[in-house]
This record gives sequence, structure tokens and C-alpha cells, in this order.
Amino acid sequence: DDIAERPALEATIDLAAIAHNVEVVARRSGAAVMAVVKADGYGHGATPVARAALAAGATDLGVATVAEALALRADGITAPLVAWLHTPTTDFAPAVDAGIELAVSSTRQLDRVITAAAHVGETAVLSVKIDTGLARNGVGPQEWPDLRDALAKAVADESIVLRAAMCHLARGDEPEHPLNDVQAARLDECVRELDRLGVAPQVVHISNSAAALARPDLSRDLVRAGIAVYGTSPLPEGYGLIPAMTLSAEVSMVKKVSAGQGVSYGHTWTAPHDTTLALLPAGYADGVPRLLSNRLRVQINGRSYPGVGRICMDQMVIDLGTDSDVTEGDRAVLFGSGADGGTTAKEWAATIGTIDYEIVSGIRGRAQRRHV
Ligand code: PLP
Repeated sequence: DDIAERPALEATIDLAAIAHNVEVVARRSGAAVMAVVKADGYGHGATPVARAALAAGATDLGVATVAEALALRADGITAPLVAWLHTPTTDFAPAVDAGIELAVSSTRQLDRVITAAAHVGETAVLSVKIDTGLARNGVGPQEWPDLRDALAKAVADESIVLRAAMCHLARGDEPEHPLNDVQAARLDECVRELDRLGVAPQVVHISNSAAALARPDLSRDLVRAGIAVYGTSPLPEGYGLIPAMTLSAEVSMVKKVSAGQGVSYGHTWTAPHDTTLALLPAGYADGVPRLLSNRLRVQINGRSYPGVGRICMDQMVIDLGTDSDVTEGDRAVLFGSGADGGTTAKEWAATIGTIDYEIVSGIRGRAQRRHV
């Protein structure tokens, strides 16, 4: 009866796993933890993840956009919260008003934050995002002296408070790569320059999950951890992290087919003998990559079965073979913690040559989230 209540396609989020993972990151990095909950918590639900991470000791939250930060504030999240990705039309005024820390990457952004702060009559709390080698957002070396001096002036005339200086690693998932040390040294030098101007930031941060786990020497005041909070290590070592998302589907139909029957579009798989198929209501519109066609396994009632034929927009086919007890309404686990020998999102990613960030943040469509 319980099963009848559950959505046909469900992403279950284990908040105890989120809490455990925050503790692992804190212990290994030796620093305060900023839980990165952008992109709706990498597909896990930003607000419930934020609450669980904060309860487990995370001190800060990080998101990409002001809209994401405002949504967390609207849900009652009051913790320190920084947004670092802006466009020329981003409206900073509501963010300043909501006490959201804004990371600026250019003098244009700084000027617009100062204007917005004057408009709402409050002091903006700012971070400066410094491009020390990733060449994405962040102020690059050419523009740095201008932004540095503009920050010093804005702090001096009390238009802003400079809370943090941060940079993002290009090769953090290669912990021993010398670029990590080059980037850290560049950031440290920028911080020294700010210090000489009398405007040292209160906190400095560099590390993503990979660096937080494997390079504690790069931890400054805090680490910005995303994927590790969701339970996978971006490195070969697992560090005892627990994947928080389990994707499961109800078996929508069980049917027999005869030997020689081609299955799903293009008949890319043909039944080698009389067999029984199970259909699952999960397809590429829900974030199951079509590239996994004929290349995945699911677990039903503790047994592993292969996906066969092309993954469709709304459904996929499983070969149950000849001696299975699976019936309609049983639950198939597509990926999960891996604890029971089942598949993980990381394995899906490895099969199709991507990263599990893309898998978990891409679960959508008919998949309904449930936090447990
Ligand atoms: N910091 C910044 C600026 C990011 O953009 C991200 C995500 O890409 C992170 C930290 C978290 O990275 P990860 O999920 O690898 O820990």
C-alpha cells in the first residue's frame, strides 16, 4: 500500500547522508564548510539540502545566481549565503536587501552593487572573485589592480564590507597538479595586496570538493564543497562519502516476448530466447541518458537486471530473463548509494564518459523528489 502512494518515478534524497558528507568534508579539510547548493542543490533540492548541511555544521551556503539565493531566503534560510554568477542585467538591490553576499568579478559589477546598496540604503557585503587561472568568471590579472583599488576606496567610504576573497581551481580533481599551488599563491598575493591597502578580507577560500578532500593544505578559512556534500568523491578514493540520491521507478508493465523479438526503437537488442521484459516509466526526458541504452543495470527486489534496447523519452525496457519473480508495481532502483551492490550515478557517468554532477543535476521531468 505504501508503494501505491509513491510516485512512479522518484528521486529519494537521504538527508542523513548529506549531513554525514558535510562532516567528512569538515574533518578532512580542517576548515569551515560552505555547502554549494546551486542548480537546486545539484538536483537534490536546494532548501532541504541547505537545512541539512547547516544542521550538520556547515557555516555558509554558496549558489551561482542571485535568483537562487533569493529563493533560499524566501524559504527562510538566514545563514551566510553568497552568489557569484551575474550578468549585466542582474538586479542586485533585492540581494543587498536580503543580506545576500555578492561576489564580484569586475569593476562594473562592483559599481552596480554599490549603486544598488545606495538605492536600498544598506551596506553591501561583498566578496571578490579572482580568476587565478580558471579563466572563467572572476577578475583576471589585467583588471585586478583597478578592481583592487576600487574595492579599497569603497571599503574606506563605507559603501561596502569586504567579507571574502575567493578563487576556483581549474584542476582541483588532479590534487597534486602544480597549477593548484600556483592558483593558491596568486590568491594569497592578491589578499596581501588588499591587506597593504588596509582592506584585508575577513575570509579567504579556494578549495572545491576535490581540494577539500585531498589538499587540506589549500584550505584557507573555508572550503566550498558541492559534489562531496551530495556524496561522491571527484577523486578515485571514496573517503566514505554516501551518495544521497536514489532514483527508483515502479515497474509499469511485465510482458513476455518470444525469441527473436527486437526491442524498442531500432531493434538494437533482440531477445536471444523467450524472455520476460519489465517496462520502467523513466526516459531521457527525465534525465536518464539515452547513451546508456543497452549499457545499464537496475536492481529489482535485490537482483540486478540489464536494460535492453534504446532508452526512450518516457520509458525504458529491462530484461528479466526466465526465472524472475518481478511483478508489476515492484520498485526498480536505477541508481543509488551503491551500498547494496547497486549502480551509482558515478557509474552511469563513467559508462558514458561524463561526470556524475551532470547525472544528478539532470534528473528532472516526471521524477519527483522526496526527502527522507
Ligand atoms: N565553487 C565554485 C565557484 C563553483 O562554481 C563550484 C561548482 O562548480 C564549487 C565551488 C563546488 O565544486 P564541487 O562540486 O566540485 O565541490
